[in-house]
Amino acid sequence: MTVFDYLPWRLAARSTMAPAVSDDRITLTHSEFDERTTAVAEQLRDAGIGVGDVVAVMLPNRAELVIVVGAAWRVGAAATPINPAFTAEEASRQIGDSGARVVVTVDGHSPHPGATAIGVDDLATEITVDVAPREPAPDDLALVIYTSGSTGRPKGAMLTHANVDAMTSMMVDHFGLTPADHCMLILPLFHVNALMVSTFAPLRAGGQVTIVGSFSAGRFFDDLSRVRPTYFSAVPTIFALLAATPADVEPDTSSVRFAVCGAAPVSEELLQTVSDRFGFTMVEGYGLTEGTCASACNPVDGIRKLGTVGPAIAGQQIRIVDPDGNDVPAGERGEVLIGGPTVMAGYLNNPEATAATIVDGWLHTGDVGRLDADGYLQIVDRIKDMIIRGGENLYPKEIETVLAGAPGVLEVAVVGRPDTLLGEVPVAYVVGYPDADLTAEALRAHCAAALTRVKVPAEITVLPTLPKNPVGKIDKPRLRERLVVI
Ligand code: AMP
Repeated sequence: MTVFDYLPWRLAARSTMAPAVSDDRITLTHSEFDERTTAVAEQLRDAGIGVGDVVAVMLPNRAELVIVVGAAWRVGAAATPINPAFTAEEASRQIGDSGARVVVTVDGHSPHPGATAIGVDDLATEITVDVAPREPAPDDLALVIYTSGSTGRPKGAMLTHANVDAMTSMMVDHFGLTPADHCMLILPLFHVNALMVSTFAPLRAGGQVTIVGSFSAGRFFDDLSRVRPTYFSAVPTIFALLAATPADVEPDTSSVRFAVCGAAPVSEELLQTVSDRFGFTMVEGYGLTEGTCASACNPVDGIRKLGTVGPAIAGQQIRIVDPDGNDVPAGERGEVLIGGPTVMAGYLNNPEATAATIVDGWLHTGDVGRLDADGYLQIVDRIKDMIIRGGENLYPKEIETVLAGAPGVLEVAVVGRPDTLLGEVPVAYVVGYPDADLTAEALRAHCAAALTRVKVPAEITVLPTLPKNPVGKIDKPRLRERLVVI
């Protein structure tokens, strides 16, 4: 029988007194973390929650969010984290779709009539009656994570205990995590990246996670020198802000062994700048909620190739296929497929979307990529983002990479604008560093020097910010909404 080593009661049995979960109010050892999940498990059981149920948790980043997830698992239920910034209507939709009957919220009010609310301050902290843990079966649901999916209505990716077990154990191996590892968590906990890379992977290793709430560039290095983590995981925008730290600021980053960058495309220059400036190893990885987080990642010790997201993580498989589903040779572009034990069970209540996404056990990612001769994956773009200009396929990422290399550019997004003659033409939105003086003319000249004419954006707009989804990815659908046919 599989022993799911990331479960709080398993962790407590192994490393009782070592610190496990902290935020700016509480610090829990592995054994206290287990006690707190047991106390909340009793409360959930009293609310009628048991095997096969779903518990929703709608909290900002704080230790209780992780405690509620562990408590749900103790009674045989799954957890569904809800973005705390959601409106009541959005939260209600997720609760309704997931079938959650209990929701833990800040204010103790339920956004959905079908779910009873428990206020975060009313969560039990003392065990009165021990709730014996229920050992999960591999196919039992552990998490239902609603994915941004960039387009369309959010869908609930069903992640089983077998998925979480495989992912956390692969991460422990891939990053070489030990009890000495300590992750500083800055990404939102309703996203799979935060739950896996930053929380249950270090806990499984017997290490710890310190939750510092949401990211703030001004506070980041203070947090880092106070927490002294061995690693952290973040998205490109965060690294871009760190790279822009004034030259006279010399933060103490000596505790950091490595930092993981993922979730969205990043330029090679940025990874190099951050690692040169702050002296820690930067590893880029790639994955999806539907694959329980990372599927490819550069190694911490070993050959890292900038511009790639690394090879498949040991235990997972990656294929690149053409539109007919045939494997393409090394070096050629095609859709990225993922196989292995971290592929989700499917989308909840959505057999059509599941059937379109998982075919013969392979997860169709909707990303365009290529594998080099050593099996390192390069993400070229999203299939959906591809711009077809006069019948020619243009990959926005190629144009974005050139623009990102122009002096003073912080962020850039290229999307296709409908065009009556050509079908679509590329247009660019650019954000500069605070004191940069960007002009469309200079940016256009920069593109013209590096790209063939058809790839030079038909229009370049300098904006103060770009629209982002809650995890910090540029929201291209919203940018496209600005565009009209001309
Ligand atoms: P999510 O399920 O919200 O994590 O989104 C997954 C999507 O994020 C993938 O399908 C990719 O399009 C994108 N993504 C994740 N990691 C990377 C990366 N390192 N480079 C480029 N795109 C990425």
